[in-house]
Amino acid sequence: MEETKEEMKKISLIVPCYNEESCLLAFDREIAKVAEQMQGYDFEVLYVNDGSADGTLAMIRGFSQNRPYVRYLSFSRNFGKEAAMYAGFCNATGDYVAVMDADLQDPPHILPEMVKILETGEYDSVATRRVDRAGEPPIRSFFARMFYKVINKISDADVVDGARDYRLMRREMVDVIVEMGERNRFSKGIFGWIGFRTYWYDFENVERAAGETKWNFWKLFKYSIDGIVSFSQMPLTIASWMGVACTGFSLLAIIFIVVRKLLWGDEVQGWASNMCVMIFIGGVQLFCLGVIGQYVGKTYVETKKRPHYIVSECSDEKIKKIG
Ligand code: UDP
Ligand code: MG
Repeated sequence: MEETKEEMKKISLIVPCYNEESCLLAFDREIAKVAEQMQGYDFEVLYVNDGSADGTLAMIRGFSQNRPYVRYLSFSRNFGKEAAMYAGFCNATGDYVAVMDADLQDPPHILPEMVKILETGEYDSVATRRVDRAGEPPIRSFFARMFYKVINKISDADVVDGARDYRLMRREMVDVIVEMGERNRFSKGIFGWIGFRTYWYDFENVERAAGETKWNFWKLFKYSIDGIVSFSQMPLTIASWMGVACTGFSLLAIIFIVVRKLLWGDEVQGWASNMCVMIFIGGVQLFCLGVIGQYVGKTYVETKKRPHYIVSECSDEKIKKIG
């Protein structure tokens, strides 16, 4: 009996929650079912309350009193899902660790199957992707597809279209993720960048159980820029090439103007074309400065080395309060 206890693997489930009071009851019920199926394993659910303004924290506190497998930590404010996942990875104690959304868009019932796939020993992580984007606004789907095309072309992180953050990983992989302490976090890129053997589990898109998505178009746009800047220097290269192209073009224009002056003399004309060139060059310069600015700004944030998250309340002493 003692021996089997020692060999028993532990599974950690990280659940980032931001204003999820309308989903959490249903979520807790689903997780209880999964916990039931995980008899051969140690099981923990680590809720990360990301500064919710509703009753989320109170509900999570309740779960931790009623369910022996529930732990939690609560941020001092909203730090974003990336920080919530990072805090989860830092504090999960399992041999296998999974991240799962609280809105039941990441079906909990496939978790046992994911564990089985990992147990075959052929893979280091089981990642999920949705094969369709049913129920999503068409514009959002369009831009999402474009984003995946672009980022895969210009970076060496393999970011899979439709991939969710829902994924089960071995401890080795989690340790690497914790080690990657960058502040501008783009987990889909990080998962792809670190490599390891990944099994892709496909499922059909599930709509949110209740409540609303925390992402609007603008937030997603900013997140995609973060992703690109974090994993590619191609925008800087494009800026240099634009500079080269403009210089080449201006050389041609100078030759043209000088020859024209020598052959036909100097007449004062061409104000319109002059303005066009000035405005164009000004635009290109500002654009390139903006691109450089993006990288400088990110570098600034990284060099400050501020914590990713700050915990104001947690379930046990093992939780790292600042990380
Ligand atoms: N989330 C979070 N912090 C945030 C935004 C979202 O922890 O600032 C959590 C949220 O509670 C949910 C998950 O991240 O569990 C995914 O959020 P959402 O469902 O809004 O995103 P979507 O599924 O629409 O991409
Ligand atoms: Mg969701």
